[in-house]
Amino acid sequence: MRAMVLEEPGRPLVERELPPPEPVPGQALVTVRACGVCRTDLHVADGDLRDPKLPLVLGHQIVGTVADGDRVGVPWLGWTCGECRYCRSGRENLCDRARFTGYQLDGGFAEYAVADERYCLPIPDGYPDEQAAPLLCAGLIGHRALRHAGDGDPLGLYGFGASAHIVLQVARHQGRRVFAFTRTGDEDAQRFARELGADWTGGSDDVPPEQLGAAIIFAPVGELVPAALRVTAKGGTVVCAGIHMSDIPAFPYELLWGERVVRSVANLTRRDGEEFLALAPEIPIRTEIELYRLEQANEALSRLRAGRVRGAAVVSMG
Ligand SMILES: [Zn+2]
Ligand SMILES: [Zn+2]
Repeated sequence: MRAMVLEEPGRPLVERELPPPEPVPGQALVTVRACGVCRTDLHVADGDLRDPKLPLVLGHQIVGTVADGDRVGVPWLGWTCGECRYCRSGRENLCDRARFTGYQLDGGFAEYAVADERYCLPIPDGYPDEQAAPLLCAGLIGHRALRHAGDGDPLGLYGFGASAHIVLQVARHQGRRVFAFTRTGDEDAQRFARELGADWTGGSDDVPPEQLGAAIIFAPVGELVPAALRVTAKGGTVVCAGIHMSDIPAFPYELLWGERVVRSVANLTRRDGEEFLALAPEIPIRTEIELYRLEQANEALSRLRAGRVRGAAVVSMG
């Protein structure tokens, strides 16, 4: 099979011809149709996340078909132990021994993948493969972050990429106002956010017309934590939704005072996946995608790194 392979962090992916993976009992062989590109793929490729399997097939937003023809989604959470304190308390997203797709397990930038059947998710009808792919991480993690942000209004979103463009639609569906913060001067991202219904857009240092009730930070930039706290009302929660972030600078306690909360959101549970994939067609969420062929995966990663992708980048086998 053809695959785009990470052989060494910090180097571009290499196109390789590999033997198709062979499923063991309990695993499904998935014919990959599409695979979303996520900021976490960049963190693995760039070496921000340590000790990946090498060589590695990246990609953890896989939409494909299994032997009986059903469509399945393979997300980031690929396996958990079922035994640790986290697994036993409904928090498998925090499992000490969790294994992740496109990190410790080969992912979907390839024609075939194998996945533990217990961690595959059903893909809702009505979504073409390419449009469904970004739901599997951008959508799922965004949904989990939104839940942990509480119901504060307006909701601030820092970094307007794949996750934010989906979360905005969920928040609007809940009747909340959304303020979108982008890199200073990123007119394209601000226009995109307004097209999707953002009530206000600005740069990350701008002061919005009203204090935020809650905020979610998708950009991997530690400076955004005090920046978001500074414009968040008392009692509001600031959620850090990314798996990697630059150091958070020291800030005065008064920014946190007033029962403001800063928290992270890590990974996902299967229950998150089932809930969100049932919700998506009800809203309905529409994903805006940029399509790439498998051999263009490096180009997709480069555009994502440069903040140039409108919505979500997706590698398509079609
Ligand atoms: Zn566990
Ligand atoms: Zn992801």
